[in-house]
Amino acid sequence: MSNSVYMKGGIHLLTASTKAGKTICLGNEYRKETLISLREKEEFICPICGEGVILKLGNQRIFHFAHKRGGTCADFFDGETENHLEGKLQLYRWLIGQKIPAILEYYDREIQQRPDIMFKYQGHKYALEYQCSRLPEQVFIKRTRTYLQNGYIPIWIIASEQLHFKKDNIVSLANFHYLFLRSSEKGSLYIPAYCPEKRFFHFLDTIIPFSVKNAFAHHSVHRLDNTNLQHLLAPARSFYKISFTKWEAEVNHFKLHWGLSSGARSNHFLYDLYNHNLNLFLLPCEIGLPVPHSLFFQTSPIVWQTYLYFDVLMGRNQGDLCTLGEIKYQINRRIERKELNVRQLPQLDSVPYMEAVMDYFFLLERLGVLTKISETTFQLKQKFVIPGSNREKEEMKELFHQKIKAFSRNNK
Ligand SMILES: [Zn+2]
Repeated sequence: MSNSVYMKGGIHLLTASTKAGKTICLGNEYRKETLISLREKEEFICPICGEGVILKLGNQRIFHFAHKRGGTCADFFDGETENHLEGKLQLYRWLIGQKIPAILEYYDREIQQRPDIMFKYQGHKYALEYQCSRLPEQVFIKRTRTYLQNGYIPIWIIASEQLHFKKDNIVSLANFHYLFLRSSEKGSLYIPAYCPEKRFFHFLDTIIPFSVKNAFAHHSVHRLDNTNLQHLLAPARSFYKISFTKWEAEVNHFKLHWGLSSGARSNHFLYDLYNHNLNLFLLPCEIGLPVPHSLFFQTSPIVWQTYLYFDVLMGRNQGDLCTLGEIKYQINRRIERKELNVRQLPQLDSVPYMEAVMDYFFLLERLGVLTKISETTFQLKQKFVIPGSNREKEEMKELFHQKIKAFSRNNK
């Protein structure tokens, strides 16, 4: 079985209707003999385009309906790989096994969308999409919005083979992967994935990007048989804590790669750094730190934390105040200029990127850089020190590590 090869011969589906309008869903466990005799008596049509479909009962693939011609409903069936058919079938049966009312390949004529599975749970209507192929981002976002505007809670599950783990807790995530990010009722953010071959759910949570494409994350694997819908909608909280030493090593590696890459000279951010008589390798230790909500920015934490330094902290002396209003203003100005990008997360109600900034200020407070003196005001206690040489940088790093260690200890 090839996972990522498109099935030949047009659009395949698991649900069709008879000429008399009866729905035949292959998600229900029909016996092969039953289906053979049904095929002798009936003609089947595609519920979306109305064209004739053939019931395929071979041994090589799972039973499915195939369009006789191409089918004009192609837009509703992107990337129908064997893996996709298999995955949605398993997820459908999993829901039915929990006595959850579900419809496979449900076609909502009003909004002209066809979630892989529509189900109802605790008074809500869900549209489940199991995605094995890369959908254009704009299509993904538009579909998600349409679901939300029409009373559905979308739940997009990515095929686990689409996730690329590099080592330990490092995963490579493109903008496309972040589209799958959802929030549990309690507000924890995670990306759900599924592997039909092994029958495993994979959850990615505590995602902290260090570059546009790479992130630290906590990855957990759950057997389908041991997981229920409630686990999928609200995975158990993870207590994963990022190792600062590992973080720093990756950030340094990333800086090195970035600083040496051929396009570096044309990069606006690097140019901005040089204009401030700074360079990537002599940034203060307080820039490029891991904070919980930094995934709300598509931009690397090195970049947005440097901008906060330029715009808010650099010009201030010990004892000076800065307000939340000003911080917001400066961040929004960078966003307007497209020097900072807010991530597109269509399954969330909003993308509260200021949370990342507040996480960072909270961390700076614990590092003794500033104090929060009211709900909206901070006071600078200590300016960032710019190392003058690599040797100085190493000495500062040593001290910084001791601080980080000290408060990690106090945190336990
Ligand atoms: Zn069709």
